[in-house]
Amino acid sequence: MVSRSKQVRIRESLADAKTIPVWLDDPSAPEPREPLKSHRTFDLAVVGGGFHGLWTALTAKERSPELSVCVLEAEVCGGAASGRNGGFAASTLTHGPGIAFDRYPAEAEKLERLGLENLRGLKTDADRWGIDCQLEESGELEVATREHEIVNLLEGADLERRLGREAAYFDSEAIASQIRSPTYIAGLWRKDSTYMLNPARLAWGLARTAEEMGVEIFDYTQVTSLQSDGPDMVLGSRYGSVRAQRVALCTNAFPPLVKRIAAYVVPVYDYALATEPLTPEQMKEVGWASRQGVGDSSNLFHYYRLTAENRILWGGYDAIYHFGGKVGHEFEQRKATFDLLARHFYATFPQLREVGFDYSWGGAIDTCSRFFPFFGSTNRGAVTYAAGFTGLGVASTRFAARVMNEMMFGDKTEISSLELVRSRPLPFPPEPMRYGVIQATRASLAGADRRGRRNAWLRLLDRIGLGFES
Ligand SMILES: Cc1cc2nc3c(=O)[nH]c(=O)nc-3n(C[C@H](O)[C@H](O)[C@H](O)COP(=O)(O)OP(=O)(O)OC[C@H]3O[C@@H](n4cnc5c(N)ncnc54)[C@H](O)[C@@H]3O)c2cc1C
Repeated sequence: MVSRSKQVRIRESLADAKTIPVWLDDPSAPEPREPLKSHRTFDLAVVGGGFHGLWTALTAKERSPELSVCVLEAEVCGGAASGRNGGFAASTLTHGPGIAFDRYPAEAEKLERLGLENLRGLKTDADRWGIDCQLEESGELEVATREHEIVNLLEGADLERRLGREAAYFDSEAIASQIRSPTYIAGLWRKDSTYMLNPARLAWGLARTAEEMGVEIFDYTQVTSLQSDGPDMVLGSRYGSVRAQRVALCTNAFPPLVKRIAAYVVPVYDYALATEPLTPEQMKEVGWASRQGVGDSSNLFHYYRLTAENRILWGGYDAIYHFGGKVGHEFEQRKATFDLLARHFYATFPQLREVGFDYSWGGAIDTCSRFFPFFGSTNRGAVTYAAGFTGLGVASTRFAARVMNEMMFGDKTEISSLELVRSRPLPFPPEPMRYGVIQATRASLAGADRRGRRNAWLRLLDRIGLGFES
C-alpha cells in the first residue's frame, strides 16, 4: 500500500511534466523535410527514418557513392523510438553476452568482438561526421536490490573477465562509493561495453550526414503499398511514389509492409520520465561521479542515467502490449505507469524527494521471441529487412545496417555467415493466444523477481530457448 502522503507527492511531482521525450524538446531540432510529392526512381529506397534506416542509407552510400538512395519516413526522422530512448548504446548484439554464450557458444566470442567493434565504430562515425550527441564513455552499472540477484552480478563479472574486459564489482558497502541508494546491495560496473548518448542528436546528425552524402530524405511520407513491377519494386505513398531496384525495410515496431514479419514481432510500449536538472547539492547527495548508465538486475528492470544537464532519465519496468499489436500516439502516455515509475524513483533516491519530473513519455519497441534482431529478404532479394531489436537498438541498428547492406549487395564476409544472421526467432502465436502468452510471461517474470525462482512457464520457455533474463 502506498501512503496517502506519498500518493500526493507522486501526483505533484508529475503535475507539470511535458508529455514529450526530453530529447525532442531541443531548440537544435531540425525542421521537418518536405514529403514526397512526385514519382521518382532510386537505386535503393529505405523505409523508416530511425537509426536503422539512417545507418542503412549511410552504409549504402559509403559503400557505393554512385547509388541513388532515398529515405521515406512516415513522420519525422528520429521522432519514433530512435529519438525517445534511454540513450544506452550497448555493444551486445544479443541482448547481453550471457545470451550469446547460451545460444551460439561457437560464435559467442566473435559476436562479442563484432559488437565492441560496432560500438567503437559508432563513436568514430559520430566524431568524423561532427555529430555532437553528448556521448560519454561511462559504461553501465548493474545493481542488485535483492539477495538472489547477486549471483547474476558475480557471473557477469566472471564473463567480463573471461572476455578480457574491464569490470568492477562492488559489495553492499562499496557500492555507495559509486551511487548512493538505500536499495542497492551490490553492483557490477562494466566499463567498456556501453556509452551514454543523446539519441535524438545522434539521429538528427545521421540524417544531416546522409543528406550531405546525397541521400534524399522525405518526411511525412508513409509508405502504404509495396509491389513488384518487373525487376523493380514500387512503393506507394499519399502524394507520390518511388520505383527502386532495392528496398530496405527499417520500420521497427510499426505495422510491417511484408506480412510475414508480423508473426515474429510484437510492439511493446516502454515508458520513461526525466527529472528537473539536479542542483550541485543534489548531485553531491547522490554521488554518481562516474556518470554510468544504471540498470537493475531484475527481469522487469529500470534503466536510468544522467543527461548532459544532470537530469535523471528514469525508465523501464512496465512493458505494455496492447491486444492485436496496436500502435499509435495515444499509447505514448500512461498515467498508471508514470505513477509507478515515480514511486520506484523516490524509493531508490529518497534524498531526492524534492525533485520533480519535467518530462514523461513512451514509445514502441519491436520485441521478438529471441530478444535480438533477425534478418530476411523477399521478392528474389529485392526487399531486405531486419526487426526485433527488443529495446536495445541504439548501437545494434548500426550493425544491422551492415548486415542489410551485405544481404542487398551479395557480399560474403564473416558477418553474413553468422548463425545469428542466418537463424530466426520462433514466431508468436496468433491472437488471442498471443496476448495470453505475453501477459503470462510478464506475470511470471514479476513473480520470479519477487521469489528468486522461475516458475514452470518460464522453465518451459527456457527449455525451448525463449528464456529471458534482463
Ligand atoms: C522508451 C524507450 C527506451 C529505449 N531505450 C533504449 C536504450 O537505452 N538503448 C537501446 O539500445 N535501445 C533503447 N530502446 C530501443 C531503441 O530506441 C530502438 O531499438 C531503436 O531506436 C530502433 O531504431 P529503428 O530505426 O528500428 O526504429 P524507429 O526509431 O522506431 O524508426 C522506425 C521508423 O519507421 C517509420 N515507419 C514505420 N512504418 C513506416 C512506413 N510504412 N512508411 C514510412 N515510414 C515508416 C516510423 O515512423 C519510424 O520513424 C528504447 C526504446 C524506447 C521506446
